[in-house]
Amino acid sequence: AANRSAHYADHARIFGLETEHGISVTGANRTVTASEAAMEMFRPVVERARSTNTYVDNGSRLYLDVGAHPEYATAEARTPLDALLADLAGERTMASMGADAQAVLRRKTGTDLTVHLFRNNVDSVGHSFGCHENYLVRRYVDLAAINDQLLPFLISRQIYTGAGRFAHGRFGVTQRAEFVDETVSSATTRSRPMVNTRDEPHANPEDFRRLHVIIGDTNRSQWATTMKLGTTHLVLCLIEAAARHEYLSGMEKMALADPVAANLMINDFGGRSALHLANGTTLTALEMQEHYLAAAEAFVERFPQEAAQSLGESWNDSSDGADAVGGIRWILDQWRWILGRIEERDWPAMARKVDWTAKATLFVALAHKQGFEGLRDPRLASSPLAAKLTQLDMDYHDIANGTLYPALVRRGMMTTLVTDSQVDRAVREPPSGTRAVLRGRFVRAARDAAPDVRWTCDWTDVAVTAPVRASAILLDPFSAEPTADYDAVMAALG
Ligand code: ATP
Ligand code: MG
Ligand code: MG
Repeated sequence: AANRSAHYADHARIFGLETEHGISVTGANRTVTASEAAMEMFRPVVERARSTNTYVDNGSRLYLDVGAHPEYATAEARTPLDALLADLAGERTMASMGADAQAVLRRKTGTDLTVHLFRNNVDSVGHSFGCHENYLVRRYVDLAAINDQLLPFLISRQIYTGAGRFAHGRFGVTQRAEFVDETVSSATTRSRPMVNTRDEPHANPEDFRRLHVIIGDTNRSQWATTMKLGTTHLVLCLIEAAARHEYLSGMEKMALADPVAANLMINDFGGRSALHLANGTTLTALEMQEHYLAAAEAFVERFPQEAAQSLGESWNDSSDGADAVGGIRWILDQWRWILGRIEERDWPAMARKVDWTAKATLFVALAHKQGFEGLRDPRLASSPLAAKLTQLDMDYHDIANGTLYPALVRRGMMTTLVTDSQVDRAVREPPSGTRAVLRGRFVRAARDAAPDVRWTCDWTDVAVTAPVRASAILLDPFSAEPTADYDAVMAALG
């Protein structure tokens, strides 16, 4: 039994979320561009780190690539809830950088300009940017399994993870769907695949892959972020178990005939229309999700300990185990609950948890108030209300100056899963039980080191380059234990 447990502890996961932000400036008579505002946001970072690319106290990565899409890539987390906290820490960090930049730019220009920082996936001129989910999976999971068993799940889950978007007079369930044009590919620049397989595991390549999921929307809902990671984790457990030929999940039969086309159907019809499977049958997105949920429930019922251990939980201790928010049983309960609401078309009940329904409920109410039938009313597109809804849609995602989302939270119309002080702590402290603990400690010590000390780090290494040299490789993402090399690097910081 001990052996089998160790074997199934093999479902342990590393979660990481990368969020690219849109940026724009209003009220400055075009005197300040978006990229100038982004540079101003990163000016203090450059002063401290001599680069627009750095790692911060909690082990996460903060950077500005070419273009003006500031990015926060969370440190490695062992659970969906830890990943949520790291992601919210990123949101808080970015929001305060945006506020500081706005204050400086107002002083410099003598205007009352506003810096908008969007956690969404499409800017006002129609450029798309991403929210990447990173999952550590076992190497023996092959790409055919990702294509046949994971893609149908990733496409259909959008009925509860979609962030929604009102633009050009129309409402869609997702932000990203129309910008994703390929299925599983290793290309990054020209095409936009749903899952990127570029082989950079940031771990021992003989044992692991890093699955790089780029089909998803950026969520503001804490519930949606946690559920998107949690349900995907369970499906990956199924796929891993099946790949070892020890367990038949039945999910091979979900393979889609044309994933790109199916993805667009989700956007237009929100899970109602029939998706064509490779085996010639059809399923709606809701039916597909019901199959995945049933398979996940069967898996957890058969291997309860292993499932709990995959998130470092104890199955029997309900106070701090699988029932806790973000735990295995919680994920299954919420999953069952949300599919039931979708089945009943109970949009108001979903609105506190699902971003697209939060917006849709509000937008429909506004449309009704002005005498429109709803969001599909053909008169809406050319009305002044369309412009208002487009602007409200953007406001929902503006973490620097938006008022809609915070108002929903304040009025109890949006569920939250964590407290402000937990987020404060996540800004300072890395997720526990991963090498991010070591990276965070290194970054904090490096910042306090003598001014002539030069340092650098990445997901898998930390190094001091001057005045003395020392480096350490942190290849195991699950290890927070310092090695002799790591101790030498810390000593080299002085
Ligand atoms: P790009 O921004 O071009 O997509 P990228 O995805 O390779 O690049 P980063 O932006 O640096 O790289 O983000 C890497 C993400 O992967 C982080 O969220 C990090 O926590 C996560 N991560 C690190 N190591 C692992 C691992 N072994 N398995 C899964 N995720 C990992
Ligand atoms: Mg990135
Ligand atoms: Mg990425």
